[in-house]
Amino acid sequence: MSEPHTGIVVRATGSWFDVDVSGRVWPSRLVGRFRLHEEKTTSPIVVGDRVDIQVQDDDTATIIHRHDRENALTRRAAGRRVGHSHIIAANIDRAWCVQSVGAPRFNPGFVDRFLVMCASYEVEAGLIINKIDHLEADDDRLSYWCDVYQDAGYPVITCSAVTRQGVSDVREALTNQVSVFSGPSGVGKTSILNQIAPSLNLRTGEVSERTNKGKHTTTYAELFRLPTGGFLVDTPGLREFGLLDIEADQLAFLMPDLAPYAADCKFSGCTHDHEPGCAVKAAVDTGDIPSVRYDSYLNMLVSARLGDRDVGR
Ligand code: GDP
Ligand code: ZN
Repeated sequence: MSEPHTGIVVRATGSWFDVDVSGRVWPSRLVGRFRLHEEKTTSPIVVGDRVDIQVQDDDTATIIHRHDRENALTRRAAGRRVGHSHIIAANIDRAWCVQSVGAPRFNPGFVDRFLVMCASYEVEAGLIINKIDHLEADDDRLSYWCDVYQDAGYPVITCSAVTRQGVSDVREALTNQVSVFSGPSGVGKTSILNQIAPSLNLRTGEVSERTNKGKHTTTYAELFRLPTGGFLVDTPGLREFGLLDIEADQLAFLMPDLAPYAADCKFSGCTHDHEPGCAVKAAVDTGDIPSVRYDSYLNMLVSARLGDRDVGR
């Protein structure tokens, strides 16, 4: 038998997995023994998993080991009770929330829920603002949003898929990384990615539309190898990411611009909406926390309390 190879799972369709080893893709299967040792609730192998494979004589392979996951993007499985979740992809280096200025309008509620969701899964996040060609020269909305999110500690890239301004910054940010692109339809995700990797033939828009109609077609995430190195997770239904397992009094700690203040509130367990001696509210009053972020916080707090944890609605 040949030496095992280490690769990354780029496609997972039930019992077969495509494993990319330095650009060569091996159709691979799990050996039964491996399955038994795995937890029952989650998929034992998902895209992004790093695995060791043993190549067989017929040019297929068996997966003999899965490396520990650094993180996993998860969403609540459709029709199941809260608590059941479905892992979309593992080992994400950064998840980018794509927004546009002009049309569709920048949606801070969507952005903030996405960023909190990423934080809850320990996935680094960032913001891409597209369609900057829509702005008039004196328009200060763009710099306002850039300031809000950069001050919170997130990388922000501004670009236009039409004029190509800033597209090289996006390309650079994706190089040698495993990245996720998410955002409402129409913001220009496909347009940006087509500039970066024209050969990918991405299915972003069309698939999420299908999913939104609620047909429950079984859809699988896929990893695309980028021409500059690295992978892009192409997955439908990113808007269905759930804010799983977030307690109301933990929410502020997932927002890096609120978190330092949340530790200073008079009462531990403060939810920062009505309690006296709240350091978060004080920081909103002084302008140290942008009120737009606090508004998002209050909206998410309602969701967390209701257990209605869907994002992007
Ligand atoms: P997606 O749904 O996020 O994948 O968005 P698309 O890439 O399909 O783009 C939606 C629409 O916005 C299309 O008509 C694009 O031509 C247009 N669009 C994309 N990027 C830009 C941009 O930077 N500037 C302008 N003005 N239009 C853009
Ligand atoms: Zn407080």
